[in-house]
Amino acid sequence: MKKADSEQYKQRLLALRARLRGDVSAMANVALRKSGEGAETSAMPIHMAELGSDNFEQEFTLSLMQTEEDTLGLIDEALVRIEGGNYGKCTDCDGVIPKTRLNAIPFTPLCIRCAEKQENHH
Ligand SMILES: [Zn+2]
Repeated sequence: MKKADSEQYKQRLLALRARLRGDVSAMANVALRKSGEGAETSAMPIHMAELGSDNFEQEFTLSLMQTEEDTLGLIDEALVRIEGGNYGKCTDCDGVIPKTRLNAIPFTPLCIRCAEKQENHH
């Protein structure tokens, strides 16, 4: 993944983490920074102009979170993968995680196939 791309996901992850922690001021900072980026941002494949949209993130939070703590852990791991240049790669099979999936669940460590495999084990 290109550095510019992973940087976008990093911002999303940081915003999401801030929200989960109830850190409203950090959230506001990220949102402000985001909106200040202007045209460059709108050219990105991530349709997260909605970053500031409470509705989106609340729905997202409700539908996808197991527990906030689990999710915070996954977010931290995803941020580590971004720093290490491994973000967007499945931690199980090393396959590329499609951006459509990352856009939906930016902290996911698994590609769809591996995630389904895991779910079937439960
Ligand atoms: Zn995989």
